[in-house]
Amino acid sequence: MPIIRVALDVPVNTLFDYLAQDITARDIGVRVSVPFGKKQMIGMIMEVSTHSLVSSSKLRHAVHIFRDIPPLPASLLDLFRFCSAYYHHPLGEVVMNGLPGRLRSIKPVVADPAASRYCLTPAGYAASLSAIPARNIVKRRLLTGLKESGVMHIEEVKRLSRRAPAALREFITLRWVEETLAVHPSTVASLSEITSPGPILTTDQENAVNDIAAKISDFNTWLLHGITGSGKTEVYLQLIALLLRQERQALVLVPEINLTPQLEAIFRARFPAIQLVSLHSGLNPGERLNAWLQAQRGEAKIILGTRLAVFTPLPKLGLIIVDEEQDTSFKQQEGLRYSARDVAIFRAKHANAPVILGSATPSLESYYNALSGRYLRLRLSSRAVKNAALPVVRCIDTRAAKIKEGFSDPLIAALEKCLTLHQQSLVFINRRGYAPVLLCKSCAWTATCHRCASRLVVHLREKQLRCHHCGHQERFPSVCPECGDQDIVPFGHGTQRVEAALTERFPEARIVRIDRDSTRRKNAWQKILKDIQEQRVDILIGTQILAKGHDFPNLSLVSILNSDASLFSTDFRASERLFAQLMQVAGRAGRATILGEVLIQTEFPDHPLYQALRRQDYDSLAQTLLAERKTAGFPPYVYQALLRAEALQIAAALDFLARAATIAKAPKLVEIFDPVPAQMARLRGMERAYLLIQSGSRKQLQEFLSVWRAKLDTLSAHKVRWTLDVDPLEF
Ligand code: ADP
Ligand code: ZN
Ligand code: ZN
Repeated sequence: MPIIRVALDVPVNTLFDYLAQDITARDIGVRVSVPFGKKQMIGMIMEVSTHSLVSSSKLRHAVHIFRDIPPLPASLLDLFRFCSAYYHHPLGEVVMNGLPGRLRSIKPVVADPAASRYCLTPAGYAASLSAIPARNIVKRRLLTGLKESGVMHIEEVKRLSRRAPAALREFITLRWVEETLAVHPSTVASLSEITSPGPILTTDQENAVNDIAAKISDFNTWLLHGITGSGKTEVYLQLIALLLRQERQALVLVPEINLTPQLEAIFRARFPAIQLVSLHSGLNPGERLNAWLQAQRGEAKIILGTRLAVFTPLPKLGLIIVDEEQDTSFKQQEGLRYSARDVAIFRAKHANAPVILGSATPSLESYYNALSGRYLRLRLSSRAVKNAALPVVRCIDTRAAKIKEGFSDPLIAALEKCLTLHQQSLVFINRRGYAPVLLCKSCAWTATCHRCASRLVVHLREKQLRCHHCGHQERFPSVCPECGDQDIVPFGHGTQRVEAALTERFPEARIVRIDRDSTRRKNAWQKILKDIQEQRVDILIGTQILAKGHDFPNLSLVSILNSDASLFSTDFRASERLFAQLMQVAGRAGRATILGEVLIQTEFPDHPLYQALRRQDYDSLAQTLLAERKTAGFPPYVYQALLRAEALQIAAALDFLARAATIAKAPKLVEIFDPVPAQMARLRGMERAYLLIQSGSRKQLQEFLSVWRAKLDTLSAHKVRWTLDVDPLEF
């Protein structure tokens, strides 16, 4: 009887052998349920063989083979294997965690009628509204709705009217609408008719499109380095159009779930008849599976998603786009600590397809790779909208200016001017809550989290103190727990405090705060975006959620508060990140025809970072930072890995790491450092430490890690949790 080798979601880096009847090599990539210990588990058939190293008396039988969906393509299984090998993470965990939740359940997948979507056929597009009698409001609304979005979920149809599903059935009979979401060859052939026209490209855009288009069937990593507002999205759209003509699929990765609806709307408007799916953690399990299956069947041509979407099966993959490639949210910070950007590059290489990394401020790693010629760099150096110029950036020296409730007079004056001109302004402060510190004026006590090495943030409205790391909340104390004094005050500024100050200063202004607290409710962010776009907002106050990718044409002033702290961080990537973030926020100003201005309140107006920002000169700062990294021996000049350990006692974690270091036989080119406590030394009650390993050679580092990882598995780690983090971003 054939043997199947199964990947299971267990923390051991091995496949498990089972006997299975009626199995052929075609079943590789199929889910299977198997007995494991006393329970049953679901796994993935990775190999089929005729023999096993396990003695036949011990081999158990597989319980059920799931042929409910087609097998995973070999290319996806290869991707999982690569991730397991590169990140030194158990294959079974990699495979099973890469699947939608529904496929990890022991129950077979049944087509979910609630997930059905309906799209217009070319005939539906051609149908004119006037073909429907004016009194038939429901039908008219349905057709309009379908024409606007191209595709509607059954729930959306029902929301239109109680009678809309009946109208939908009529449309199906008329062949205006169909439930299968496949794009017909005819649609593809006449893509140019169905694609809405785009703007006339700028010279930079045209060059970028032509260069990539000329090599659209080859693997290359393209760094699309374009200033904010230079129209990178348009370059993506043009290339996707090219790809759709070849009936191939494009995967578009974005850093932030909040950015997907906006981009989705742009894509749908341009390609109304093309099936597009969004994949992100905001979907319910049924929706996610459905989108995933459409991608697997090759029906979905555009797959838009956050980092997890990099593991979507794509039989006709022809292009990958990683937008805002420098964004750290592409790196998963738990479990399999993969970088979706780096996995995307591997995937593109394997599929022999181009990958485009888009950014106004590329990560130093990518920039370095572009300088060295490994990546091909394309520049977009002017704003795409005619007459839109980059904003003027100025520093307000807060050592000289008087500050009241966080604001200097010149800044207040600038905000006032915007209000008079009916233009929008944005106040950026990357800290939510009312104040970052609660301080006793008499004994200098500050409120700290008992589970983390962090201060509790004051949330005044809710009368609470909250830990932004572990979510712990407690009541606001009435007296200082240390000395009993009543004079305890919030210290410093967060978004809520800025909101309160501005509301008092400008009572007439329509002010909206945008941070994780105010956008938590479903669709809250969508509503705010709409309000901004439709000019129902005068002043936006927000954290980095606001900084990313949004296009607000009527926004003329961006002000930046409290960014000095990151200038002197111990994290060697802090400057790079601060610069990227500030360039991004600054880039929100003056994107259309009104001139933009950026004001930075700082005590260090002469700092090289602010100087570079004033000149909007990414290159000079990048060169400076690269030179520093080279001297200090930091990435991208070396490759790093961390062995992370956490335990209730820091001594236990450090002891484990010390033992791990002793069993490591590092070759000459690999350096092992001493174990040290992590930057965030305590989190959720666990003490954390790490051991840094680095090498100038990625190959040497990888070879070392493979051998070492196997030894680590045999090391006793009583009450210590450990993981390997390859290419770490946090320390
Ligand atoms: P980026 O992502 O590079 O910051 P976007 O792609 O958001 O920039 O484009 C900025 C603005 O420029 C958008 O409003 C977009 O519609 C517009 N735009 C892009 N390309 C062109 C073009 N060729 N002509 C006119 N407007 C354009
Ligand atoms: Zn006190
Ligand atoms: Zn905490």
